[in-house]
Amino acid sequence: MQNKQKVLVSAPLADDLLGRIEAEYDVVTLPSSTVLTAETVGEHADIVGWLTTVKQPVTASVLAELPSLKTVSNYAVGYDNIEVPAATERGVQICNTPGVLDDAVAALTVGAVLNAVRGLSRAERFVRAGQWVAGNPFPLTTDVHGKTVGILGLGRIGKKVAPVLHALGMDVTYHNRTPIDGEVPGDARYVSRDDLFAQSDVVIVLVPLDASTAGSIGAAEFAAMKESAFFVNPARGTLIDEPALVDALRSGAIAGAALDVMTTEPLPAEDPLMTLENVVLLPHIGSATVETRCAMADLAVQNLLDTLAGEQPKGAVNELKVGASA
Ligand code: NDP
Repeated sequence: MQNKQKVLVSAPLADDLLGRIEAEYDVVTLPSSTVLTAETVGEHADIVGWLTTVKQPVTASVLAELPSLKTVSNYAVGYDNIEVPAATERGVQICNTPGVLDDAVAALTVGAVLNAVRGLSRAERFVRAGQWVAGNPFPLTTDVHGKTVGILGLGRIGKKVAPVLHALGMDVTYHNRTPIDGEVPGDARYVSRDDLFAQSDVVIVLVPLDASTAGSIGAAEFAAMKESAFFVNPARGTLIDEPALVDALRSGAIAGAALDVMTTEPLPAEDPLMTLENVVLLPHIGSATVETRCAMADLAVQNLLDTLAGEQPKGAVNELKVGASA
């Protein structure tokens, strides 16, 4: 009997999903905390498929050690951990999980906006610290209705966020590199990037992390924002110049922020963000619900199996040249 081809799984998968891969392939599993490098990945040189998370850098030098690899299926919609041009060059199909997490990440984003503007986390800390006593009311916050929200990156997730904030009475604006044709969810109006930062009461960042967006929001953007404005980042930490954000929060250049993502994750205890009362800090939980993670895992497995079977995967990131294959 012919030996099965080998697949590496370094993402958390339920037994039934693992079983679907094991039915056709010899599966090697690693904890999702494992990070393989060009020096250590050689042990798995014969894999044809790899299902992994955004914590695993899939660089050109890692790919160079995997000559049989046909696909990397990322258990995420973001794929900033992968050097896609190098993968395309080698004929490796990169896959992600678009669509199935939009509602969950949108709900978390709306929650983060409300938390920042209405001070929900601060208010809970106030109660738990025993400060809610007669004569010491929690300080007044501000309304979201009647205010302007600017979404930088109105894509799959942003289009789910926009109508909810619109229903809460917000005037929704957005900036993409290309304005959207036709009807835009939440009646969102297109504005320039400069106007988005200058005019919004809440700025939400939902652009993908890539070479053009990394570090693209810094001191100039925070200086352009209103002093009463809030900054919400559910996208990726390294889009932001974090020291500049800390300065803006400390100096009162902006009123507050809510972050689901940071430059260093998990956030170190000694990080300056930890000392600030006017920032809501969440542990990268945008898609972290039972239902959504199941749907993401299901799609990541299907992407892997479809690609290895020679079929077009639903979550294809790169387009391979006909005949290109490692
Ligand atoms: P999409 O690709 O659907 O949307 C991204 C949008 O950003 C597009 O409308 C695009 O429009 C716009 N865009 C891209 N580059 C720029 C730019 N330089 N300037 C302005 N606009 C730009 O992405 P999703 O909505 O699916 O996801 C967004 C990001 O959210 C992901 O990349 C990921 O990093 C993050 N995410 C975070 C999660 C969490 O757990 N916190 C979970 C899931 C996703 P155009 O091309 O016209 O510019």
